[in-house]
Amino acid sequence: MSEFDLIRRHFTRPTPGAMLGVGDDCALLAPSAGQILAVSTDMLVSGTHFFPEADPFLLGHKTLAVNLSDLAAMGAQPRWATLAIALPQADDAWLERFAAGLFALAEQHGVELIGGDTTRGPLTLSVTIMGEVPPHAALRRDGARQGDDLWVSGTLGDAALALAHLQGRIVLDAAAVAACSTRLHQPWPRVALGLALRGLAHSAIDISDGLLADLGHILDRSGLGAEIDLARLPLSATLSGCGDETLLQRCALAGGDDYELCFSAPAARRSEIERLAASLDLPLTRIGQTTARPGCTVRDALGNEMRMEASGYDHFA
Ligand code: ADP
Ligand code: MG
Repeated sequence: MSEFDLIRRHFTRPTPGAMLGVGDDCALLAPSAGQILAVSTDMLVSGTHFFPEADPFLLGHKTLAVNLSDLAAMGAQPRWATLAIALPQADDAWLERFAAGLFALAEQHGVELIGGDTTRGPLTLSVTIMGEVPPHAALRRDGARQGDDLWVSGTLGDAALALAHLQGRIVLDAAAVAACSTRLHQPWPRVALGLALRGLAHSAIDISDGLLADLGHILDRSGLGAEIDLARLPLSATLSGCGDETLLQRCALAGGDDYELCFSAPAARRSEIERLAASLDLPLTRIGQTTARPGCTVRDALGNEMRMEASGYDHFA
């Protein structure tokens, strides 16, 4: 199979939302009237972000999901994506499953694949995603204000718990493994939440490196600190019941790969946010608030300040 056959067979689908899609030197795109573009790239590297033998369908899903998560965190409506892919060999069956996972999620969000690049090399998957947002409606990291409530969606730490199990740091029973490993392998980006938070949240970020690390980016950019209550963090039954309190805390506070949103909003909007949780059928939990005092303080169930070490994943630390 030639490179061009491969692209034609696996990565060429109709793109009615583009003036020109796959097949020329560039795609041609026109953003909707009155919208600006939100653009982000995320790369997954074999051995760093996933195991080489990972299920290709789930990898296709996750490659797009991590990028959609960035649009969600910005409050942007997904539109288009490009895919740069390095493959050790052209394995048709693998590519078919990978494309099926990627396009299944793309269709759910109305995303069109409009180009990319294909080369031989160590398995690497990189998507650039483009979405639209009205000017000034984007949920930026620098928008938090003092006294904002801090919220997170879904539950925290399940993906990290699955990874801890895979790495032999904890032994979970089969039901627990099944419950948390889908969080690791098949994250569902919170796109609808991001869109609904336009005009409601002051700031937002997606949790890819761990709550403390990612919340830290909001705080740094906004020139604020925060107080978080450990007892309020939303945990799945699987993580609460894992039986290792130290690991539980580390997963919840510093576990990456959850792809939930962390956002800040004024206290006056609490009831709207609670109604939003009900309408999206997605838990939204108030975990603390921003403070003028810099730094992030985590309080335990007794209200004592906890000492936090490594707060998130850093590829170069
Ligand atoms: P060029 O040499 O001009 O960069 P390529 O030969 O790399 O063009 O790609 C040919 C066409 O196929 C381009 O439109 C490109 O965007 C598209 N393409 C290449 N790889 C992919 C891919 N993995 N997914 C989607 N489109 C791709
Ligand atoms: Mg090229």
